[in-house]
Amino acid sequence: MTETFVVCAKCGGVNRVAPERPALAAKCGQCGTKLFAGHPEDIGAALFDRQLARSSIPVLVDVWAPWCGPCLSMAPAYEAAAGELEPRVRLIKLNSEAEPAVASRLAIRGIPTMILFWKSREVARISGAMTRTQIVLWVKDQLSTIGA
Ligand code: ZN
Repeated sequence: MTETFVVCAKCGGVNRVAPERPALAAKCGQCGTKLFAGHPEDIGAALFDRQLARSSIPVLVDVWAPWCGPCLSMAPAYEAAAGELEPRVRLIKLNSEAEPAVASRLAIRGIPTMILFWKSREVARISGAMTRTQIVLWVKDQLSTIGA
């Protein structure tokens, strides 16, 4: 197995996680935050770009907004999905109201929209509220398609 690079969702520090170390217990070498807290963080534009550019694992982003009812009702499902998908995938959130430039760059038409990235490239996206099971199955489907 090769080394894994995980970007801290709090400070953007790039952490090398050795294959023999349990990733779920790993903490950021820069700020001490758990790398996988089971609670997807809302991140800003700079950290978003850093996650995509420096993570060696696939990155899933949930694009949402505080005024969007379906987004709010999907939030617990997304958080629960993080418990199942991490550390294989990094789950983050992007508030499209707080980060309109990123949302526009991603050509978001409706929310909630989930986008899966790997190696800085968009692999797949899907719109509409989903259950935890649907999220996990959709992501695993994409992972087996891309061989991640
Ligand atoms: Zn950190």
